[in-house]
Parts: sequence; C-alpha cells; structure tokens
Amino acid sequence: MSILQLKDINTYYGGIHALKGISISVEKGEIVTLIGSNGAGKSTTLKTISGQVLPKTGSVIYEGKDISKQPAHITAQTGIAHVPEGRRIFPRLTVKENLEMGAFIVKDKKVIKERMEQVFDYFPRLRERLTQKGGTMSGGEQQMLAMGRALMSKPSLLLLDEPSMGLAPVIVEQIFDIISDLNKEGMTILLVEQNAFQALQIANRGYVLQTGEIVMAGQGNELITNESVREAYLA
Ligand code: ATP
Repeated sequence: MSILQLKDINTYYGGIHALKGISISVEKGEIVTLIGSNGAGKSTTLKTISGQVLPKTGSVIYEGKDISKQPAHITAQTGIAHVPEGRRIFPRLTVKENLEMGAFIVKDKKVIKERMEQVFDYFPRLRERLTQKGGTMSGGEQQMLAMGRALMSKPSLLLLDEPSMGLAPVIVEQIFDIISDLNKEGMTILLVEQNAFQALQIANRGYVLQTGEIVMAGQGNELITNESVREAYLA
C-alpha cells in the first residue's frame, strides 16, 4: 500500500513555477530517492509534502488522507518527519534538549526516555555528547542530531533532504549506512540527494527531477546503470 502519493503537484514561489505536475508514490517500507541537479525542485517536493509550502494544484495523499492543504506543524504531528537541508538543529540548545524538542508533544517522560534510547542505538555518538551545545558539534554530528531529533517524533515516513551535504566521505558512508539500517528496521524513507550514486545504491526506487518535472523513474539499480542518468548525474 502507498504510504504517500503525490498527484500532479504544481507548486509556485510567486511567479516561479517550481514543480510542474509532479506525481510520485512511496510504498511502506521503501527507500525512494529523488535525484536531480541544483534547482530541479527536490527540496520543494519535500517542503510540499511536509506542508512548508502549499501546492497550487494537485494532491498529497498520506495514509489515504489528502494533506495538501495541511500546515506543517500538523503534518509533523501525524507521522511525517522532515530533516531539512542544512540540518537546522537548535545551535544553543544541548543535544539532549534538541532531541527533546523532537518529541515536544509527548508529555510522558518515560516515553521520551525510551525514544531517546532508540535514537542512541542508531547514533551512539549523541549519547556521549548529551550536554554539548548543538552548534558546537561537527557537521556529521549535527546531521546525526537532526536525524535523531526527527526520530523522536516516531515518524512513519522520514523525509531526508541532502543528509550527506558538506560531509567528509567517511562520514557520508556512516550516514548512508544508518539510513539503510533505519529502513531495515521498517522505516519508510524519501531521500533527496545530490550524491546520486550512493542514494541509488540504497534505494528501492528513484525519480529523476529536472526543472520541476520527473523525467525518469525506475528501480535504484536500473537507474544506476542507465546511460543518460550516468552521464548527467553519476559522471
Ligand atoms: P538544490 O539542491 O539546489 O536545493 P533543489 O532541486 O532542491 O535544488 P529547489 O530548492 O526545490 O531545488 O528549487 C526549485 C526551484 O524553486 C529553483 O528554481 C529555486 O530557485 C526556486 N525556489 C526555491 N525556493 C524558493 C523561494 N523561497 N523563493 C523563490 N524561489 C524559490
């Protein structure tokens, strides 16, 4: 069953037509990746799903419900967690406080503690740095914190925008491994990446975006070997 469907989405920023009839689907348990050049509309697609920008036409169906006009703060409480490009952690708050913010609607301290323990299973580094201010963490650690904070809301769908951006290759490997592990444990993931090769390697399926349109779709391993994808994005 599709957990998420975008049907003929058109999103504008004023006069800029950023998404031109985007239709995609994500099945439960999949990793689906969106690849494409700068400005293709990848981030806008995630923002349209999480409600940060509203589509002008078309629908976003999540768990069978039309959420196209739903504001971001409601969507965040109903199982979609969005880890934005550039992490956007709270730099002056500690690691622990950042994680708590991810579960701010949960009142039960025991539940919060349990969720934090689950986050530490994926990101042991965060446990070691509980009292460190978010802003003093390394780029990779901040990415882990941003993902950990998202997991604190116990999402059913995780939207990841460029998690590998600006990170050293060895850290990128770690982040991709963790994304794979999360998925193996059942998390459904929609992953936006510039790093198309690594994204397609871990994804079940992928879509290629170009100036606001889907120009190709297929299994991850099909796209990796596709000649035009290789030329444009994997060179
Ligand atoms: P990148 O990897 O560079 O972030 P992207 O594929 O995620 O690229 P988007 O950020 O979704 O692309 O941008 C899609 C288009 O919308 C681009 O032409 C961009 O300039 C435009 N755009 C994005 N955000 C805004 C905004 N806040 N106001 C006006 N135009 C915007």
